[in-house]
Amino acid sequence: MTDFVATKSLFHIPEGVIYLDGNSLGMLPKTAANRAKEMIEQEWGEMLIRGWNDAKWMEQPERVGNLVARLIGAASGTVVMGDTLSIKVYQALASALEMRPDRKVVVSDNGNFPTDLYMADGLIKSLDRGHVLKTPNPEDVESLINEDLAVLMLTQVDYRTGRMHDMKRITDLAHAAGALVIWDLAHSAGAVPVDLAGCNADFAVGCTYKYLNGGPGAPAFIYVRPDHAKVARPALSGWLGHAAPFAFDPDYTPAPDVSRMRVGTPPVIQMAVLEEAMKAWDGVEMADIRKRSIELCEQFIAGVEASCPMLELASPRNPDERGSQVSFKFDQGYAVMQALIARGVIGDFRAPDVIRFGFTPLYIDNNDVDGAVKILAEIMETKAWDKPEFHKRNAVT
Ligand SMILES: *Cc1c(COP(=O)(O)O)cnc(C)c1O
Repeated sequence: MTDFVATKSLFHIPEGVIYLDGNSLGMLPKTAANRAKEMIEQEWGEMLIRGWNDAKWMEQPERVGNLVARLIGAASGTVVMGDTLSIKVYQALASALEMRPDRKVVVSDNGNFPTDLYMADGLIKSLDRGHVLKTPNPEDVESLINEDLAVLMLTQVDYRTGRMHDMKRITDLAHAAGALVIWDLAHSAGAVPVDLAGCNADFAVGCTYKYLNGGPGAPAFIYVRPDHAKVARPALSGWLGHAAPFAFDPDYTPAPDVSRMRVGTPPVIQMAVLEEAMKAWDGVEMADIRKRSIELCEQFIAGVEASCPMLELASPRNPDERGSQVSFKFDQGYAVMQALIARGVIGDFRAPDVIRFGFTPLYIDNNDVDGAVKILAEIMETKAWDKPEFHKRNAVT
């Protein structure tokens, strides 16, 4: 059994803060600052260029990839780190489209995070081969799975509502129609159990600054099914994805495995912090995370619905259909969230009217949920949110 008292003690929790935004930016693991200092002073400062060999910076993207792999049901050697999630979406889609040259339809859904759709649209324009991107409502995706479909590109957990796609079922349906599937695990990795190998998913991508606590700007990951990893052509054919980067061959030969999805020099300092943060998962079972996450979300929904009748649940009520977040709708949601943050309860707001709360069992417990419900109820009852300062929009919401 996972010891959640022990995992909570690994994180720096600012005084007076109840942090329900680990789905946007995870908390700071206490040892991360020391690791960053040591990396900068001992490795960069003393080793200089020798760090690539002596501190094994070169293997870092694969080494950290293996730590992430365990949490998403992927075998060792099938996940590699680097770049940002937007870039990884582009890479996965470019490779997948090339593997289905006779098909022209890409399906996602209109609940997907905009950058995934923007990247797909940009790639389709660059290819200029007549591909079309379709974005039905999430619940209508299955009706577009047919013989025209080249690639189904979905985010498993909807960033706004927490609605969750059935990965196994949808992957099976798409495969039966001859299509490939890319799963974006931005709100899944570290939040819900994922079984990429068991689902036979073709590609998966995700970020590490959300539930994996890698810090702002932490690198993304990409999974390529081992049989595809031998043949998928990398659209971004950078030198570190080459089979032998230091041969300095003028011709590009991709690495024989997922390492071909590496592009250029990795963010070594940031990845050292992420590698340290991944230690919080030692001894943690995703099944325990899921059980606890559901318990915390249910407690929050019950508390809010009992004390704030003006808030409307925007997430699925059935926990089996929900990720590790809960959203409510309210016209003045932005101001409500600002009032909450002023009281130390940190969640976030997604336009037009959604207030969103992430539940991260590694460091959120039942007392935090109680405290957050109490403060939200007070703010709603007293209309404390209706002050000019809470209506002023910031750049990041
Ligand atoms: C958070 C998130 C992103 C962010 O992409 P970056 O390139 O890391 O900025 C992309 N897609 C989804 C589905 C997300 O939830």
